[in-house]
Amino acid sequence: MRFHLLAALALPVLLSAEDLHWFKGNTHTHSLWSDGNDFPDMISAWYQEQGYDFLGMSDHNTLAAGERWVKESVIEKKKIALGPKVLDKYLKRFGDSWVETRTDKDGQTEVRLKTLEEYRKKLEVPGKFLLVQAEEISAGFGKSPIHINAINLSEVIPATKDLVSIRETIRANLKAVAEQAVKSGHPIMAHINHPNFKWALRADDLAHVIEDRFFEIYNGHPGVYNDGDPARADSSHERIWDIANAIRIAELKQPPLFGMGTDDSHNYHGGTVTPGRGWVMVRAARLDPDKLVEAMQRGEFYASTGVTLDDVQFDKSTRSLHLKIHGQSGARYRTEFRGTLKNYDRAVKEVAAPADDPQPVRLQHGEDIGKLLASSDSLEPVYTLTGDELYVRAIIISDQVMTNPALPGQVQKAWTQPVGW
Ligand SMILES: [Zn+2]
Ligand SMILES: [Zn+2]
Repeated sequence: MRFHLLAALALPVLLSAEDLHWFKGNTHTHSLWSDGNDFPDMISAWYQEQGYDFLGMSDHNTLAAGERWVKESVIEKKKIALGPKVLDKYLKRFGDSWVETRTDKDGQTEVRLKTLEEYRKKLEVPGKFLLVQAEEISAGFGKSPIHINAINLSEVIPATKDLVSIRETIRANLKAVAEQAVKSGHPIMAHINHPNFKWALRADDLAHVIEDRFFEIYNGHPGVYNDGDPARADSSHERIWDIANAIRIAELKQPPLFGMGTDDSHNYHGGTVTPGRGWVMVRAARLDPDKLVEAMQRGEFYASTGVTLDDVQFDKSTRSLHLKIHGQSGARYRTEFRGTLKNYDRAVKEVAAPADDPQPVRLQHGEDIGKLLASSDSLEPVYTLTGDELYVRAIIISDQVMTNPALPGQVQKAWTQPVGW
């Protein structure tokens, strides 16, 4: 008998696969409420038109709430490319009965930013498109930015900065998220963003802050170094994920981290930090903020930059991971099953970090962490655990380039969550 991933987690109510649907969403986007360069309703409409089911607009240290006016000259300065005025595009899309402008004492035009409560009424369609309240809690420790997205929150969470260490600073912010979840009675998930932004975080930081359950395996901002830097040991997101998960499962007896795919888009009029690159596919009972967050907290999702999976199942009785890839015509796929074995080499070597690195040293972990256990060219690849693995995860790699790659030649991928732990 095949069990759903849910069954492995002993939930009070087991759902059959027929009750569940895949929902596509992005939980990391910026608008004029912080450093993005378009109106939140324009950005939301773009995601809706592209077929996303949900969006979390995650501006830095703010919710889209309260009265906020922005000068048109400021908006135009944020625009990257030449082209029509941002306000003109906004008026064209939504009309002057929706768009609110005024003239300040110097004769300058100002535009009011719509609050989430306002624009969700305009754009949400029950069961079809959902806006989930989000915030990028943007803290830091010294020169290291610590950015954490809180999804499905109801009040702004002020960033806590510069506690005694990177790890304690992350913990304090995660504690504030957890406290609000208890207070509000709604689940709130938090994901640690772009660990390599300004080379802020190492794999061991992500391992030891066990209060965190999620990090970005893919972030669409071209300046956050998903692939790491050869001069900084173990710095690719893939290595960070496997090292953190090996330490968590083997040494700390804790669940692994789950991997998110996100956009972190800021530019909507040209530029390089554009939307439509990374997302999650969440398997949930319905399109509802609490249901989506609970599904992600159970690991019922995968990250993608273009590859679609029709099914991901971990069969608990045979201990095998089954995938069904939704093949696009003309595309070829290779699935890598990666994991770490229980007897992995736990030796850690300190290596010098480049001068601009905020970390005094980098840590080099054993090569057998996250090793390739098997690969397949099938559209229905299967991996059966031998019992020696701490966990196994799959990376599905297409030979097709992403629709909007962050860096030239980036191919479409999908990442399942670790299983078998
Ligand atoms: Zn950030
Ligand atoms: Zn961001």
